[in-house]
Parts: sequence; structure tokens; C-alpha cells
Amino acid sequence: MNNLIECVDIFKTYHDGDRELRILTGIGLTVHEKEILAISGPSGVGKSTLLHIMGTLDKPTSGEVRFRGELIESMGRRAVGRIRNEDIGFVFQFYHLLAEFTALENVMMPALCMGARRSACVERAEQLMAQVGLAERMRHKPGQLSGGEQQRVAIARALYNRPAVLLCDEPTGNLDEGTGSAIADLLWEIHEEEETALVMVTHDEGLAARADRWIHLHEGKAEQRA
Ligand code: ADP
Ligand code: MG
Repeated sequence: MNNLIECVDIFKTYHDGDRELRILTGIGLTVHEKEILAISGPSGVGKSTLLHIMGTLDKPTSGEVRFRGELIESMGRRAVGRIRNEDIGFVFQFYHLLAEFTALENVMMPALCMGARRSACVERAEQLMAQVGLAERMRHKPGQLSGGEQQRVAIARALYNRPAVLLCDEPTGNLDEGTGSAIADLLWEIHEEEETALVMVTHDEGLAARADRWIHLHEGKAEQRA
């Protein structure tokens, strides 16, 4: 299996005044292409911090992150930006949709932000909206959608550039059980159809157990669960 993201000896320390908060203290993990990896652990252990570091949204205090073997730290800003935009899709617990734009426009946003013309991205966005089961909700604003529907829009947006991996931060954490399990099913379906790797941060152990591999964070370290 090819390595997609490798984290080697990751440390992350935050500062609260003159107090040091040592959150991650030597994390090593690899995400392989086309696999589903779950990361669990109690609230505050550093799951989101780790996911952001894996996705180049944040930098470790020390340690290495490699994407397809290339050291992120030694790449230029534009190259890192390209990986973040084109190879990685992010799905967050609270969806992070833009309230003033329609669902369809939110899905196109990765392309619009890069300067693409609207007419050039409508078709792909419509196809993604249909893929996530929202063909009838294209013109709705986020405020007119349920939580589960908003998460579907966020997933469609994350898929826009056909990323190699979706990094999902508690994607079902804000949804009731039935809606959450429908979102999990959608993510699994996307994984099957697009061969997208999934990294899923969750404190739902039932969901974690469905993954190919399961890593548990405990006191700053990663433990293999399954
Ligand atoms: P989790 O996602 O596992 O709940 P987080 O990664 O969000 O945990 O946070 C881990 C710890 O780091 C928490 O105690 C949090 O308060 C702290 N933390 C997160 N981000 C910052 C920050 N930007 N500055 C200071 N402390 C932070
Ligand atoms: Mg978190």
C-alpha cells in the first residue's frame, strides 16, 4: 500500500500565558492510499489538532509530515496550498458553510476561490449535489437546510477537486444517531466509488470499529486499536 500522509514523531505544544500545554507528545502514524482510518480519543486529547497538522492547516511544534513522500516543511507555500486545495478535502463537525451563498455555490467554492468562472463549475457542482442526495436542494441557503443536509453539502464541497483523502473531524458529532449513520454510510459509499481515503476523527466507537484501522489517542500518544 502506498503512503499518502506520514506523521513522524509529532509534538504540539500550546502556550497559555507562561504555562505550556503539551498536547501531542510523539505521534507517529501513516495514512495509506484508499484506506479508512479512524482516530478516537476523549475530548481535549488533541484529535482536531492532529487532523489539522495532517491536513497542513496547522504546523507541529516539532516532527515531520510527509505527503506522498514529500516533506511538507521543505515545500514552498504555493505547493503546500495546492496539496491542501486539490489533494485533501476537509469535513468538519459544524459544516463551515458560507451562509450567504446557496448550497450549489458552496459546493463550487473551491473552484470559485481559485478564480474559476461560475459557468465552468456548475456542472460538476450539480453532479456532486446529486451524488450526496441533494438534487432537490441546489438553491437552498445553509440556513434552510437540516444539519444532515448541511453536512452533505460540506462533503460535496470537500469532494469538488477529487481529493485523494477526506479528513473528517467528528462528521457525525453534531447529528442525531439516524442522521449521523446516514452520513457515515455516505462517506463509505464515496470511499467505494471514488477510492478516496478517509480519516475520521470520532468519539463514536461504533463508527471507529467500522474503519479498516483504528488509532486511539491517549495522553499525547497514538495507540493502535484494530
Ligand atoms: P480534541 O479535538 O481532541 O477535542 P483539540 O485538538 O481541539 O482536542 O484540543 C486539544 C487541546 O489543545 C485542548 O485542551 C485545547 O484547549 C487546546 N488547544 C487547541 N487549540 C489551541 C490553541 N490554538 N491555543 C491554545 N490551546 C489550544
Ligand atoms: Mg476536536
